[in-house]
Amino acid sequence: MGRKPCGELSAPPLRNCILCDSVPDGILYRSNAKKSSYFVTRAPFHSHTELVRCPACGLVYSSQTGLPGKEYYKKMKDETYLREEKYRVRAFAEFWKTIERLNAVPGRILDVGAGAGFLLYQARMKGWKAEGVEPSEWARGIIAGREPEIRMYEDMFQIKSERVYDVISIMDVIEHMENPLVCMKKIRALIKDSGYLYLTTPNIMSLPARLLGKHWWSMIPAHIYYFSPRTLTSLLKQSGFSVIRIEISCVRGLPLDSWLDRILRFAGLSFELPEIDLPVTVNLRDQMGIYARPI
Ligand SMILES: [Zn+2]
Repeated sequence: MGRKPCGELSAPPLRNCILCDSVPDGILYRSNAKKSSYFVTRAPFHSHTELVRCPACGLVYSSQTGLPGKEYYKKMKDETYLREEKYRVRAFAEFWKTIERLNAVPGRILDVGAGAGFLLYQARMKGWKAEGVEPSEWARGIIAGREPEIRMYEDMFQIKSERVYDVISIMDVIEHMENPLVCMKKIRALIKDSGYLYLTTPNIMSLPARLLGKHWWSMIPAHIYYFSPRTLTSLLKQSGFSVIRIEISCVRGLPLDSWLDRILRFAGLSFELPEIDLPVTVNLRDQMGIYARPI
């Protein structure tokens, strides 16, 4: 643990914490990631960049700079993900139930990190005006071909109007961002004062994360930030939101072969599996789902 103090001029300075500006006092896990392993789907398990834990607020984050960010996501393609649509959308049922209770009349929704638009197609079926942010050109092309009425942006900073969305969802995105605080402040500017935010991200204080440490399956090179309920609440508060509900477990729906593929790769094995069209919904209890309102 810890970098050699003073005199080791070759080591680059550690990045300060985005939440409290503290200087990390040592390395939590040294990097074992190769540049070629920055995949999001079929990410290599047991692999991560250099991680530090803020000594003041506990935020865990990558201290490395120059990670493949926006450019990587722009070029991202994922055919497997398309096949998983009918399984993945099952996980949205709880989201819609809550949103329809909070916001009785369908309004305007923005999905940040919209992927191939699975949530947005559902939104339109329910009468919402659906818009999305997605850096991947390939994914935006799929949405444009399927439902051209959905307005898409490559980057949320392209949206100039303020206080316009009734609901903004951002699922499994902030852990990939270079600076989640800057992005959440932009989201606060985009959402109506009466609106709702829904956010999901892995929970580093969950039992699987604490038991498995650096071998936790959510430790992948593409994840730059690892939040806990406490650090996530702090991020939201600093961005102008107050948390109204934290679900400390979220279900995931995938076809059976996708789950088997993940289990095999986690165990260090790799086989070409046939497609097994059997939906399996699993709650690994290591993801947080948060509903928040603007302050
Ligand atoms: Zn901190």
